[in-house]
Amino acid sequence: MSRLLLATGNRGKAAEIRRLLPEIDVKTLAELPAFDMPEEHGTTFLENARLKASAAAERFSMPVLADDSGLEVDALGGAPGVRSARWVLGSDEDRNTALLARLEGIEDRSARFVCAMSFCGHGSPVEVVGRCEGWIADTPRGKGGFGYDPIFVLPDGRHMAELVPEAKNQLSHRGKALRALLPILRAHFESH
Ligand code: IMP
Repeated sequence: MSRLLLATGNRGKAAEIRRLLPEIDVKTLAELPAFDMPEEHGTTFLENARLKASAAAERFSMPVLADDSGLEVDALGGAPGVRSARWVLGSDEDRNTALLARLEGIEDRSARFVCAMSFCGHGSPVEVVGRCEGWIADTPRGKGGFGYDPIFVLPDGRHMAELVPEAKNQLSHRGKALRALLPILRAHFESH
């Protein structure tokens, strides 16, 4: 059976990819010997995904898929961006509260989730970026998802945190990036 290493310890992401690629044995870093992931010091999501994929591919000599994602808010010049996870110390809720405070009184609430994926198989890496457009709410709503989902509003008015996982996968930045990459992954594994 062909093997693919997902350069993440996140079980949710692994489950999602296993569902889409049932013919592939998808491993995560949690199942392999300890490995220090390089610092995410890239200035773009793609740079960070590429960094993680190439480091893990070199260490484990197997095909690797890595991703990096976050939220871009136009009124903040694209922040929190690549610093989404650590933009404000504390919990997801703390970051949401801080973001709402920063946007108080600001009319332009447009924002997007972005997910970059880099696949290192044989030859040059293959890279895709998925985006999900929306805007930042005035107050949080919904109990699903994680991170900024409670304050992210989709064009139809629902907050991301109100969606069940399948519905979120259909329109999320991560779902879009993964679906764009699937034919490439399938072609790779058919020929190796
Ligand atoms: P990572 O790519 O898993 O490291 O995600 C970076 C950070 O971006 C997360 O910690 C969240 O704060 C934010 N983020 C990424 N994707 C999502 C999402 O689908 N919903 C909410 N927040 C997200």
